[in-house]
Amino acid sequence: MTPTIRLGKLLGIEIDFNWSLIFIFALVAWTLAASVLPLDVPGQPALAYWVAGVAGAMVFYACLLAHELSHALVAKRMGVKVAGITLWLFGGVSRLEGEPTSARSEALITIVGPLTSFGVALLALLLAVVASAVAGSGLVTDLLSWLAFINLTLGLFNLVPAFPLDGGRLLSSLFWWRTGSRRRGVHRAVRVGRVLAYLMIAFGLFLLLSGAVLNGVWIAFIGWFLLSAASAEESGVTMKALLKSVPVSAAMTAPVITVPDWYTVSQFLGSVASQYHFTTYPLHDPSGQLSGVVRLAQLVRISESDRERLHLRDCARPLAELPTAQPSEDLAALVQRVGTDLDRRVLVFDGGALVGIVSPVDLARVVTLRQTAAGAADR
Ligand SMILES: [Zn+2]
Repeated sequence: MTPTIRLGKLLGIEIDFNWSLIFIFALVAWTLAASVLPLDVPGQPALAYWVAGVAGAMVFYACLLAHELSHALVAKRMGVKVAGITLWLFGGVSRLEGEPTSARSEALITIVGPLTSFGVALLALLLAVVASAVAGSGLVTDLLSWLAFINLTLGLFNLVPAFPLDGGRLLSSLFWWRTGSRRRGVHRAVRVGRVLAYLMIAFGLFLLLSGAVLNGVWIAFIGWFLLSAASAEESGVTMKALLKSVPVSAAMTAPVITVPDWYTVSQFLGSVASQYHFTTYPLHDPSGQLSGVVRLAQLVRISESDRERLHLRDCARPLAELPTAQPSEDLAALVQRVGTDLDRRVLVFDGGALVGIVSPVDLARVVTLRQTAAGAADR
């Protein structure tokens, strides 16, 4: 799981950022302060370049946020629940909890993002013209024209028809509208995106071999990223279709074995772990209250000497870190909420009592059973 840090709430939408953003923030500020601005506006003190560089990077992220907020706000208007916005390495993602009800609403939710970026680019351009008329060609004017350029690029790049970019989703909604099935729409858009990704990788390798190493590596890397995003999108959609109207109770491992949290690791491995075949064990304290969760895979990595010394509660992850569900919840909705990889286990509570755990293995079992039942007919 990628760690994210909460930033706050804006217009009723939760906003957080991934740690990877910090590198790009520093990279943008550095590029501005050390190369773009000194080239365009020479002869300024170093501090002025750095202040302008950091300010530029901050406004750049505000522009990314505006792009994502527009997706989220239109989604809300279209009746789709929005879990929040995460800013990360390549920009941002709006995490939608529900699905758009029609191809038209998906297209609207998608197109508004690039349109916002183009709008911001136009605004920055107008401000740059005003600033240059008032103050001539200074740092502010240059920063504004850079923002105009970067937002135009952002809008155009997002229109590339490959997942997870807006262009991929637009194409998918177009195919959805033409075929009448969201799933088929995604499958076709994924195929187009894959071809594009392979072309990018090939072009990147060509550049690499012809000497443009850095550009080649970057383009090939983005191609590879789009390729893996295409597969993730496709398997996510297939999985959701298979898990639709299957309750969590049908997938969960039950009953749950809880283990005393005062056991040492070696006590646990010797008695409990050899007796059951589970991969995750909830713990309880002497009063019977749930106090955390341990994973077998993590405990076996502890060295022999520490196993005698460490108690399970010392190695436990807090319960609050794990997502929870109710037995009656739809599995497709759960996957939508928690994510398709489901690396984290989901604790299933019924009226306050822990009744089951859903692991990736449980989900894979249900998917396999449903696949067998449905046959390959409707793929
Ligand atoms: Zn977008």
